[in-house]
Amino acid sequence: MSEKLAISGGAPILKRADYLNWPVITDDDRKFIAEVLDSGIVAGATGPQAVALQQEFAAFTGAKYCLTTCSGTAALHMGLAAVDVGPGDEVIVPSYTFLATASCVLHQMAIPIFVDIEPRTYTLDPAKLEAAITERTRAIMPVHIQGCPADMDPILAIAEKHNLHVIEDACQAHGAMYKGRMCGTLGIAGAFSLNNLKNLCGGEGGLFVTNSEDVLRKGDLVRYFGDECDEKTLRQKYNASILGYMYRNQELPAALARGQLKHLDQLNATRIRNSEYLSRHLGEIPGVIPPTCPADCKHVYWFYAVRFDPQAAGIDAEPRRFRVAVEKALAKEGVLVGQWQTMPVLAQDVFQSMIGYGKRYPWAINEAKGITYKYDPNDFPVAQMLCESYTNVHSIHPPNGLELNEKVVAAFHKVFANLGEVMDHADDAVQVGFDGRLYGVG
Ligand SMILES: *Cc1c(COP(=O)(O)O)cnc(C)c1O
Repeated sequence: MSEKLAISGGAPILKRADYLNWPVITDDDRKFIAEVLDSGIVAGATGPQAVALQQEFAAFTGAKYCLTTCSGTAALHMGLAAVDVGPGDEVIVPSYTFLATASCVLHQMAIPIFVDIEPRTYTLDPAKLEAAITERTRAIMPVHIQGCPADMDPILAIAEKHNLHVIEDACQAHGAMYKGRMCGTLGIAGAFSLNNLKNLCGGEGGLFVTNSEDVLRKGDLVRYFGDECDEKTLRQKYNASILGYMYRNQELPAALARGQLKHLDQLNATRIRNSEYLSRHLGEIPGVIPPTCPADCKHVYWFYAVRFDPQAAGIDAEPRRFRVAVEKALAKEGVLVGQWQTMPVLAQDVFQSMIGYGKRYPWAINEAKGITYKYDPNDFPVAQMLCESYTNVHSIHPPNGLELNEKVVAAFHKVFANLGEVMDHADDAVQVGFDGRLYGVG
């Protein structure tokens, strides 16, 4: 192809204005938010929007119970606390996820134990799970990463065999299905995030789901200071029975989430259509590896990650160098690409330093006397491989459609038809950020 790459001064294929913003606001959002303002009730566990959202999300997922929370992280923490994970207990977490999956384990003074991911779906690898289980293991937290269901059947079977709780991090997977069942409802508890980027958006907030009345009750106590409620009057007793937090949501985010929930299936359908279109077309380019959706599953594509393989593309370069060079060239063509997590979660300083609460807690806790914990990124080759070689393509979220994604495919073709030139610019003083924006360096 003779078209000049934008990175060498040619015309870019896309403009920023080709991209439409998330979230998609409708009259349903306006209606529920107006209800809040008209009612004058802006907060409280029994607020009408919070209560309605809980019922509607329980119905949507098929879970028996749902509680709104102030964040997905809070919902994850409630799950651990509700099943009595405590000081010195070990909790298994995938090597590639958002920090909160692992940090909420620390919040219970428990110790995250990482297990590597599966190379096709980037979810917790069940084949590596049993080797990580010890007599101190209490729970497993699979993550439905980027909207892709974790392989729950073997995970649940191993959990049952070893008498472990399964708490699902479904913060990126609203509406994702594993073999006909809704992600987030397969373990003892599930956590969803309502933050502004997630498939179901409330601005901020979260949702905690469970089928267990005990876990609901305990989760609810953890959500609100551990304060007991009078069973008859539902009045707060101002008498905390356990250690709790302040993890409630508010009416405005709950109202927005209700409006968004009405359209979730349709919004997810757009994500799936855009993603499948990209996978069909990008998959034809040697060296581009699209994401996979496991058999009998519904992937809801919170993010769309591709990996680059320099060898398959005919380029003699390290995977990281190749990925960075391709990202730069794509970004210059106007394609919003960029990495979300850049390293296995355990490579972050908070785990490497093991300072924790100070004095190296929880790792230095009495319950873990004689045990040496170490977090070596080299023990997680699949997560490392992923972080070297992947980028997210930010064109799949609604209201963007195929028109935008056709241009994205054209830009990929242009870049991959000129890889020699792309590599000439590998060291250009420009960096692609998480959101696809370009940042100059130096
Ligand atoms: C977003 C997210 C969370 C945390 O959700 P917040 O609402 O931001 O607290 C936890 N885990 C994963 C995998 C997430 O993507």
